[in-house]
Amino acid sequence: MRPDILNPLFAPASVLSGVGPKTAKTLGRLVGHADDDGTYLDARVLDLLWHFPYSVIDRSHRPAIGEALEGTIATLEITVGKHHPSPRHNRRIPYRVTCFDDTGEITLVFFHARAEYLNERLPAGERRFVSGRIELFNGVLQITHPDYMLTADEFETFPVIEPVYPMTAGLAGRTLRKAISGALERCPDLAEWQDRHYAAKQKWPSFRKALAEAHEPHRPADAEPAAPARSRLAYDELLASQLALAIVRITRKKSSGRELSGDGARRRAVMDALPFSLTASQEHAVEDILQNMAAPERMLRLLQGDVGSGKTIVAVLAMMNAVECGVQAALMAPTEILARQHFGTIAPLCEAAGVRVALLTGREKGKTRDAILQGLADGTVEVLVGTHALFQKSVVFADLGMAVIDEQHRFGVHQRLALQSKSSRGVDVLVMTATPIPRTLSLTVYGDMDASKLTEKPAGRLPVDTRVMPLDRVAEVENRLDSAISNGVRCYWVCPLVSESDVLDITNAEHRYEVLSKRYPGRVALLHGQMKAADKDQAMARFQTGDADILVATTVVEVGVDVPEASVMVIENAERFGLAQLHQLRGRVGRGRDKSSCILLYQGPLGQVAKDRLSIMRETEDGFRIAEEDLRLRGAGELLGTRQSGIPGFAVADLAVHAELLAAARDDAALILETDPGLSSERGVALRVLLHLFERLQAVRLLAAG
Ligand code: ADP
Ligand code: MG
Repeated sequence: MRPDILNPLFAPASVLSGVGPKTAKTLGRLVGHADDDGTYLDARVLDLLWHFPYSVIDRSHRPAIGEALEGTIATLEITVGKHHPSPRHNRRIPYRVTCFDDTGEITLVFFHARAEYLNERLPAGERRFVSGRIELFNGVLQITHPDYMLTADEFETFPVIEPVYPMTAGLAGRTLRKAISGALERCPDLAEWQDRHYAAKQKWPSFRKALAEAHEPHRPADAEPAAPARSRLAYDELLASQLALAIVRITRKKSSGRELSGDGARRRAVMDALPFSLTASQEHAVEDILQNMAAPERMLRLLQGDVGSGKTIVAVLAMMNAVECGVQAALMAPTEILARQHFGTIAPLCEAAGVRVALLTGREKGKTRDAILQGLADGTVEVLVGTHALFQKSVVFADLGMAVIDEQHRFGVHQRLALQSKSSRGVDVLVMTATPIPRTLSLTVYGDMDASKLTEKPAGRLPVDTRVMPLDRVAEVENRLDSAISNGVRCYWVCPLVSESDVLDITNAEHRYEVLSKRYPGRVALLHGQMKAADKDQAMARFQTGDADILVATTVVEVGVDVPEASVMVIENAERFGLAQLHQLRGRVGRGRDKSSCILLYQGPLGQVAKDRLSIMRETEDGFRIAEEDLRLRGAGELLGTRQSGIPGFAVADLAVHAELLAAARDDAALILETDPGLSSERGVALRVLLHLFERLQAVRLLAAG
């Protein structure tokens, strides 16, 4: 299916001269991709082209020997003098060659040298060009293992500015550069897929020229991602990705779902059972969702809302609409704790509306599980709340019509597909996320979804008072806790690791639990990932009911745990947490009526990034601002956890640098598909090649299917 013209780029790197089987393997480690079990795939020609230099070595400095300065990289024109081989009985003394010009002398130094080779490269009395770092040893100038030793002829084609690439063990820079220049030679001339006016306005070279320029930088600035050649290539990739997402989205819209438009009876019953009314943005979100569900197309909508913005109730109302229409609804949570908590919130509401609801996680076993499966299969269970367990083959729905996925960034695309396969008639999907994703990134991650945002918090919430303190003032914090607890306040105390580690000298949850238990006997609960499920439940329950005042926990509490009475959050070794994580954790408090506080205890000395993170936390509670800062501090790949999430990363584009291009690419893609939906114009055909080039194969397949 791939256009023939691209074949040279998709060939294995071993077709390049100088790349044998061993080098091919090493290159695979450097530029190839790991498959699902983490083994590296062999590098292809294309992968080498996407491997860009990050810097240059400038060899243009050409002093006379007398002017050469220690520590600099210099290229010298010299006459070869006398060879001094290593003494036969002491090979540790290096082989030395004295060289000179009119202004002075310099020694070339070689360890473990082969005499024949050096005699051949450096014949006494000949003129040579040598390049390397100038050293001063016992008052004598020298170069150890010069990078280049060239004849006058060879020097004519010598790359004075040398690109420097990210490397891996066992690979010589020269080998990599040679392979890449071979790859560049194989690169075909491809018809322009960019809008010519736009490319001209940006002063972008053609694709092929851009690749050549990116690999042959003339100045350090040329090796930066923001250089024109690199920007053009980044835009190529972003356009491919936005185009692919748009194609998938349009096709999905055409694919039939069903029209789910209930009579509102269950929704009203749920609303009547709630002690509050909806915020304006909750109302909007519900309207958006009901509109999607009523339409004949399948829904794929993202509900984005900061922690505590009240996403759950929106989801419940959507599920009630499904039930009103006689189909089943499911809600999936990423962890067992969350699934149970959701069930705890949802079950009473369902009950009030006369809807039958069940919980299914890995822990429902035997007869209980059989009964749930039976109820799902015969349709008596109308709403199912659960974890990944929902994806198992044995889970069969009578008629699943809608699904809610909570905290989707922990789910992959695979699971989304697995869910679709649970119904032959199309499932409306609502994805909820509390990770505020910067606008720029949400385009790449959720570009195929419609989105609703909860922008306000439920009324009556007070801001969280955030303090940053060194860990050695922990005693003060404990004193403050005393008075808080005697006033009935509940407190989270989060620690970074579960058990003592030899490498990291950090106080861990178990230790903190012991310390606090001594101070508050019987009033502290412990929660971490390595505990048995039943113990976790018990710890959570004790904290929820107020039987425990303090919950010492690892980041298990990060996502979605909801205890409105808790109003103090202490985070120990806060410098070890990422910004998004800190924000999520802080979001656990400030949910009730009490004034809440968050104390970030750090262990110094702090690096610059950690310092920045903590001060951003002190400055703002706005999740979107925090997400933007996080992007700035960390870069996109890490932010998304691309590896785990199944979100394709970018080979060329760096969203911390090319974010503006992304928005342009999205508009461009929309315009293209509006004017040429089948990609059949001249530019359209070129764009198909682009989709292949960046391996957006799902989109290519959809196009082929018409
Ligand atoms: P999140 O968006 O983090 O999932 P939740 O759905 O867990 O937030 O809601 C957080 C808390 O706010 C819950 O205790 C919920 O009952 C409450 N809540 C939700 N909507 C409102 C509202 N409109 N008014 C008051 N409280 C609300
Ligand atoms: Mg939630």
